[in-house]
Amino acid sequence: MPLRNAYRPPGDSSLWDSFLRRLETTIQVARIHPATIQYLTHPKRIVGVSLPVVMDDGGVRNFTAYRVIHNIARGPALGGVRYHPEVGLGQTCGMAAWMTLKSAVFGLPFGGSAGGVVVEPAKLSRRELERLSRRYVTELIELIGPDEDVLAPDVGTNATVMAWFQDTFTMTRGQTTLSAVTGKPTPLGGVAVRDEGGGQGLVYTLADLARAKGWPLDGASIAIQGFGQVGSAVARYAVREGLKVVAVSTSRGGVYNPEGLDVAALEQHYALHGHLEGFPEAKFITNHELLTLKVNYLVPAAIEGVIHEHNARQIAAEVVIEGANGAITPEAEYLLKLQGVQVVPDILANGGGLVLSYLEWVQDLSMLFFEEAEVQQKLREFIHQSLQAVLERAKPLQGDLRAGAYALALERINEATRLRGVYP
Ligand code: GLU
Repeated sequence: MPLRNAYRPPGDSSLWDSFLRRLETTIQVARIHPATIQYLTHPKRIVGVSLPVVMDDGGVRNFTAYRVIHNIARGPALGGVRYHPEVGLGQTCGMAAWMTLKSAVFGLPFGGSAGGVVVEPAKLSRRELERLSRRYVTELIELIGPDEDVLAPDVGTNATVMAWFQDTFTMTRGQTTLSAVTGKPTPLGGVAVRDEGGGQGLVYTLADLARAKGWPLDGASIAIQGFGQVGSAVARYAVREGLKVVAVSTSRGGVYNPEGLDVAALEQHYALHGHLEGFPEAKFITNHELLTLKVNYLVPAAIEGVIHEHNARQIAAEVVIEGANGAITPEAEYLLKLQGVQVVPDILANGGGLVLSYLEWVQDLSMLFFEEAEVQQKLREFIHQSLQAVLERAKPLQGDLRAGAYALALERINEATRLRGVYP
């Protein structure tokens, strides 16, 4: 059993375990050297820090934070920073591994990392959040940078937080550095279409796949769990592709109308009220109801593990496209397969944000900035190329897109590891 001595994070390790299980499945169909497996089963660097923050009432509160580099075989690490009360070490290790795979699927010159702070950002004031963000970068200052580890956004962080990260990095090092952080506002070197990248890329992947596989597109129904950066952009772009958005939700529940929702009006309602309740001409539903709707496409775009062994049998969608990393557990995926539900895996479907991070890193290193049209075109090209590569690799694997994407990614990482050799 090659994975027997894999690293085991303390506490809840379900996401890291999902990665190990998928790795184990893939090495049965892909040629991965045992040395590469040793690298992949042990994160390169694990850092845990406490962030003391002066709160607005004058008291000091400590927040637990992490940064994990999983692998750097193909380039410097890049990964998001999550602000969420359920951030944990096992989850951060898992997310970092996901980034290693995603960069490889998209042929980008990055390894994988991830970070997080155990915090509910909505409960902090803007000043508290700023102090927390600056302290996070200060604690990691020797370990991050454009050639070491690049910080990107994730659940609970946004362009404002990225601007604080960039400023803190620059001020502490004493030299302006734009390329250590991605997802920044455009005046600080961010790319024009940034906020929409993840959702936009997912819809492009879906449309390309539908054309390749003869799935319905015009008027086909789509339900989206999550109305954050990925979920809301999926809804917006789905409408542009002619799909009918029948349901969306937040963590409080969602709205459903089988005739289709007016997405623009819904966004206005959400911006005004901060929730979806009370949206006219729609039925209020729970997240469980949303996940079990009979639709052509279901996009879980909230958080990991939402489709699990206990609800997988109730999934009635024809195709599930993972907007959130790790939305489907390996056990659930097995059940979905038995039911004939097609799955488009996260590492293929939600790489749009990562592609934009890559373009931002490139333009900030070269100080030659892309026009918006160039960014759009490059995003489309990356998505098209990686989809073609995954479809090709999936052919001998019964067309299974997860198996194809994992095999492609792991073979690319294996090749880089083989060529580099083991140092020293
Ligand atoms: N949190 C993002 C992800 O999981 C990081 C990539 C990015 O947006 O740059 O893909």
